[in-house]
Amino acid sequence: MGKKLTLNVDGKELTKKDLKERFDKYNAMYFDGKLGKCQFFWMSPYGGTFGKYALWQNKRGVISNIGVGRNVYWTEDTLRELLVHEMIHMYTRTIEGVRFDGVLGHGRRFRSHCKRLKRDYGLIITKHGKNFKLKDKTFKKPQLWEKILFWLIDR
Ligand SMILES: [Zn+2]
Repeated sequence: MGKKLTLNVDGKELTKKDLKERFDKYNAMYFDGKLGKCQFFWMSPYGGTFGKYALWQNKRGVISNIGVGRNVYWTEDTLRELLVHEMIHMYTRTIEGVRFDGVLGHGRRFRSHCKRLKRDYGLIITKHGKNFKLKDKTFKKPQLWEKILFWLIDR
């Protein structure tokens, strides 16, 4: 199908494979390598969302997915914050088995991981991507045709 989408990070174009490499590295560094398999998806280039964690059911079972926003100026640091943020959601959900952790999943368990990462590694993870910058702040909700086109391009 169409050309593979990439993500511009510090002027470099990253693929999903590059995200996976970072995921594996951060899993080993910050989560004792306990996190399982994860897939990645690109989010709408029109949206105001930085990222998302979702568990999807398919034929082979339940699998974790991390979505990365495309309407964002990414740097290696903000991308790490985003990935680790979503990985905390993955950890509380799949390793600790917490189904509900406060509003948008940023409750007690989530915050305790933020504290741990700050204490042990000096890594600051915010709840809503405080330092992230949207490329287009006048974004609109994508129309259905835009969603379909985006889905076709990214297959
Ligand atoms: Zn979150």
